[in-house]
Amino acid sequence: MYLCNFVMYCVNSEANTRRISIVENCFGSSGQPLGVPGRVLVGEGVLTKMCRKKPKTRQFFLFNDILVYGNIVINKKKYNKQHIIPLEEVKLESLEDEAQYRNGWLIRTTSKSFAVYAATEREKQEWMAHINKCIEDLLRKSGKKAVEEHAAVWVPDVEAPNCMHCKKTQFTLINRRHHCRKCGAVVCGPCSNKRFLLPNQSSKPLRVCLHCYDILTSTKINNSNEVPQKDRISVDTSGEEDSDDEEETAKGHLESPKFYGDCVKHEETQ
Ligand SMILES: [Zn+2]
Ligand SMILES: [Zn+2]
Repeated sequence: MYLCNFVMYCVNSEANTRRISIVENCFGSSGQPLGVPGRVLVGEGVLTKMCRKKPKTRQFFLFNDILVYGNIVINKKKYNKQHIIPLEEVKLESLEDEAQYRNGWLIRTTSKSFAVYAATEREKQEWMAHINKCIEDLLRKSGKKAVEEHAAVWVPDVEAPNCMHCKKTQFTLINRRHHCRKCGAVVCGPCSNKRFLLPNQSSKPLRVCLHCYDILTSTKINNSNEVPQKDRISVDTSGEEDSDDEEETAKGHLESPKFYGDCVKHEETQ
């Protein structure tokens, strides 16, 4: 394992091509083709991802341009529920240790933000350093600026026995929890009965809490993002269920993450 100061990609390395095709095969038909020209697998490992209901084990693959994660069906053999995050829009934010939540950081993107936790402080530092290095290199190459606006991190259900807006509604099987897509708060139905178009997250208007709705509508001169009552669909299509939260699958192994040093040359630059 290496902490690299400069990553020189050996795009044509046989080992790299082989590793990428192994990852691709592990996802099978449930995943996207990953072997695109110029792509390098930088590292991989198991992280605990904070999901809506509770923390869950997920397999992560860091490429030089994307971060891929999925559920572990059979350790090192089969993964599903593939998620691909373009690194260009990622921003990391270190988290303070808190009770059982240790060695964590936020992965913020324009469409989704969440917390992950590594097994040790050292692994956390390695992951963060490698991811940040990839982001830096990408932005430098493309000349693009880092994205400023990121999706809210959802407050986990267990942290909100009551609606965080009206503070009154207690959640039950009938009084279901909802998440505001703007601030991530857990709110009751009546406190989140508005929709607002948040183009970074969806082409459809999304559920927002009344507090955020007030801010969003007052800051917008043209309220075209608001959805008239009659156009609302009764079925919640706003992605209320976070699909990768649904299944608990095989437990991840406790091995350390692997970063592929043989594919990464270390140079002091700048
Ligand atoms: Zn409420
Ligand atoms: Zn809100």
